[in-house]
Amino acid sequence: MTDRYATFARSGPGRALTKRLGLPQPPRLRRYRPGDPLVAGPVLLGGSGRLADTVTKILDSAGVTIAAEGPAAAEIFDATGIGESGQLRGVYDFFQPYARSLTPSGRVIVLGTPPEACDDPRAATAQRALEGFVRSVGKEFGRGTTANLVYVAPGAESAVESTLRFFLSAKSAYVSGQVVRVGPAAITAPADWEKPLAGKVALVTGAARGIGASIAQVLARDGAHVVALDVPAAGDALSGVANAVQGTAVQLDITATDAPVRLAEHIAARHGHVDVMVHNAGITRDRTLARMKPERWDAVLEVNLSSQERINEVLLDRELIPDGGRLIGVASIAGIAGNRGQTNYATSKAGVIGLVQSMAPVLAGRGITVNAVAPGFIETAMTAKMPLMLREAGRRMNSMAQGGLPVDVAETIAWFASPGSGGVTGNVVRVCGQSLLGA
Ligand code: NAD
Repeated sequence: MTDRYATFARSGPGRALTKRLGLPQPPRLRRYRPGDPLVAGPVLLGGSGRLADTVTKILDSAGVTIAAEGPAAAEIFDATGIGESGQLRGVYDFFQPYARSLTPSGRVIVLGTPPEACDDPRAATAQRALEGFVRSVGKEFGRGTTANLVYVAPGAESAVESTLRFFLSAKSAYVSGQVVRVGPAAITAPADWEKPLAGKVALVTGAARGIGASIAQVLARDGAHVVALDVPAAGDALSGVANAVQGTAVQLDITATDAPVRLAEHIAARHGHVDVMVHNAGITRDRTLARMKPERWDAVLEVNLSSQERINEVLLDRELIPDGGRLIGVASIAGIAGNRGQTNYATSKAGVIGLVQSMAPVLAGRGITVNAVAPGFIETAMTAKMPLMLREAGRRMNSMAQGGLPVDVAETIAWFASPGSGGVTGNVVRVCGQSLLGA
């Protein structure tokens, strides 16, 4: 659905008027196109800690220019050397001079040590303080700048490349104000960063339209064979998506009693295994709790959570998800903040977050990662159905002053799916343009 306000505000007269009235000015966000350089310009590198050398090597190998002074397209600060609050001044000194001069869709990345991994309370305190800095920069810098904090556990230095690349690139256009944890892992860096999923099989549920169709496209672009799944009623649209990505289609209602077994048999017979399992299918059946019939509660919990748990169980039991596999869920900011009229939906989506947190440690020994995205307002058929005022509020109440696109969610999922992301597990990353809801 077209965002008419954003189109107007970006026009010559619109820009002048919205500025004069102090109205939101949605910037045009830079999004990834194959073949684009990793970053749109030089990068400033600051701080001193255990990651400085690793980051320099990664930037060099990606052909990124490291500049001594701005203007720059990105600023990266290695804050792992900060051991007490007085040293936070280093963050101010590095970022303050360039607070107004990052190029549009600029990138701010702070690398820290997870507070829980610090032995010294003063170091843990200072590391935790970085969250406040990054989230505020995300709200201040504007012009499509994203700001994110990556906590890299000691010993995980070699696992950080896929994450650094994601947050530097235009793939993270709508991901801001996030805190991500990277842990130690044996990483097989992709032979080609443009095709990290070459040779992999990825299954995407709810792939006939919206976010699911975009996930199918992006994973296929990255080299995966995509198995696109949706309900039989969406069969035509589903075949369209599967054909467009040269994948295959499976018509199945994931809530059917025999769905996990039928899916497992299909995967075993056709592909032998599935490397990347993306649980994207989801529904809403909104009513306030007082007016909600039990059928509405059950339908949402079944599609959005319980059926996904059952499918995971059968696929794992039958060893159809190999070591190093990826389980990826789609939560929602409603699952973080709660939402009036969505007790069923928010419960199911908070459950998806619970699934990530409970399954990630269980599967860590096998190198299977479990993560989820939590989209905010994304322009799809689901949000086009919202009442006008709510839709407008959803679009503007975030640091980007606009809704995200399905591709923004898909790119984040592709980062989780990458073989380079073995150290990224147990994370729930919001794709919400730093929405004010639940922040
Ligand atoms: P959508 O309604 O456009 O697409 C959902 C797809 O899931 C449909 O093709 C549908 O047929 C399929 N599906 C539903 N029930 C199914 C079942 N029982 N078995 C198999 N497939 C089934 O929705 P969307 O906006 O693309 O959302 C995709 C996911 O993102 C959902 O989990 C949704 O909750 C989540 N999400 C969306 C937004 C947003 O702003 N659009 C925000 C937060 C979270």
